[in-house]
Amino acid sequence: MTLQNETMKQMYASLGISEEIYQYGEKVLAALQERFAKIDKMAEHNQLKVLSAMQKARVSEACLLGTTGYGYNDIGRDTLEEVYAEVFHTESALVRPQITCGTHALALALMSNLRPGDELFSPVGKPYDTLEEVIGIRDSKGSLKEYGISYKQVDLLEDGGFDWEGIRAAIGPKTKLATIQRSKGYQTRPTLSVERIGELISFIKSVKPDVICMVDNCYGEFTEDIEPTDVGADMCVGSLIKNPGGGLAPIGGYIVGTKECVENAAYRLTSPGLGKEVGASRSILQNFYQGLFLSPTVTAGALKGAIFAANLYERLGFKVVPNATEERFDIIQAVEFGTPEGLIAFCEGIQAAAPVDSFVTPEPWDMPGYDSQVIMAAGAFVSGSSIELSADGPLKAPYAVYFQGGLTWQHAKFGILKSLQRCYEKNVVTQIPCQI
Ligand SMILES: *Cc1c(COP(=O)(O)O)cnc(C)c1O
Repeated sequence: MTLQNETMKQMYASLGISEEIYQYGEKVLAALQERFAKIDKMAEHNQLKVLSAMQKARVSEACLLGTTGYGYNDIGRDTLEEVYAEVFHTESALVRPQITCGTHALALALMSNLRPGDELFSPVGKPYDTLEEVIGIRDSKGSLKEYGISYKQVDLLEDGGFDWEGIRAAIGPKTKLATIQRSKGYQTRPTLSVERIGELISFIKSVKPDVICMVDNCYGEFTEDIEPTDVGADMCVGSLIKNPGGGLAPIGGYIVGTKECVENAAYRLTSPGLGKEVGASRSILQNFYQGLFLSPTVTAGALKGAIFAANLYERLGFKVVPNATEERFDIIQAVEFGTPEGLIAFCEGIQAAAPVDSFVTPEPWDMPGYDSQVIMAAGAFVSGSSIELSADGPLKAPYAVYFQGGLTWQHAKFGILKSLQRCYEKNVVTQIPCQI
C-alpha cells in the first residue's frame, strides 16, 4: 500500500502536481467517501433505468446502423426516440443530430410551441445568456420578439426562493409557455432540484392549467433519480454534448415531452407535413445509444469532480456555489475568484490537464451569443463538449469560473488538482493547508 502511494505521488509529480497539493487533495477526498457512495447508488439506479428502457424498446443491432437521404423508416432513430421517451417517462421524444446544440434545441421548442400574440414567461429569473437573443431580451434577428411573442420574467427572491405572489400576478391570458431553467448557468443562484421544479409547475398550473411548462434540462440529466418530466413538465430540453450524450455523442440535442409539444418541434425542425418522418441518422446512432448508456456513470463522475472542487476551494477561502456540503442538482461548480487572474489561472490549469490540446493556453474571446468576453478551457475529444472536463467563465465580476465534467472521475480529480497547482504558481492561492 505504501509503495502504491509512493508510485501514485510520483505519477502526479511527473504530471506537474506538487506533493503538497497532492496531499491536500487526498485529505479533502478522505472526508468525502460517504457522499461519493451515495452518488454511486444514484448512478446504479439511473443505469438500470436506461438499460431497462433499451430492453423495453427492443434495441437491436440493426438500430445501430443509420440511414441516408431523407431517412424514411429509420428504425434506429425512431427506436432511440422511444428509449428517450421511456427514460424520461414522456409520450414522445425528438433526438437528432440535426439539432445543433442546446440553444438550438431550446429555440426550437420555444419557436414551435409559441405563436404570435403569445407570451413566454420565466418564473426563475433571467434565462441562460444565449437565450436572451432567442427571446429578444437583447435584440436579435429572428428572435421571438420579432415574431410578436412577448416575454415576462419574475426573478427569484434574494434567498433563491420562488416569488409566488409575483408569479401569480405575472401569469395572464397571453401566458402560453413557462420556461424553467434547472441549472444555474452563468449565474450564482442555486440550481433547482427536480422536487422544487415540481412545486413550481404545480403552482403555475393551479393558476392557469394550460400553460406549457418547459424545463431547460441542460447539465441536470441523471444528477437525480427523477427528471422534471416525472413531476409535471410538459417538455424537457437539452444538449447531447452535455450529460445525456455520455461524452460519446459528437453532436445533437433532444426534446422530450407530450406528443403535441414534440410534434410541434419536429414540424419546425424539418418541415410542416414532414415532422419526425425525415432526418437521416447517417452513422451517428451507435454513439447516441452508447453515450446514453454510459451517461449515468459519466454524470456521476462529473458530480464527484464538482463536489471535490467545492471542498478543495472552499477550504482555501473562496466562495463556491454550490457550497462544499450542499446537495447537487447539476454538474456545474462555480468558484468565485474575484479577480480575472484567478479565473484565468483556473482555466489554464484545466486546459493543461486535458488529453487533447493540453499544450495550448486558453484566452478570453468575444464568443457569439454572450455579452462579455468569455474564457474557456476545453481539451475535449468532442469540440466544446462540456460533459468532458471543461471550465469557462465570463470576464466580469465576480470573476466566477464555471467548472464541469470529466469523462471519468479520475480525470476530473487530476484536472482540479492541476487548476489548484496553477493558481498556486500564479499566486492566486498563496498557502496550501497541511491540515483540514
Ligand atoms: C449549455 C446550456 C445551454 C445552451 O446550450 P449550448 O449547447 O451551449 O447552446 C442552455 N441552457 C443551459 C442551462 C445550459 O447549461
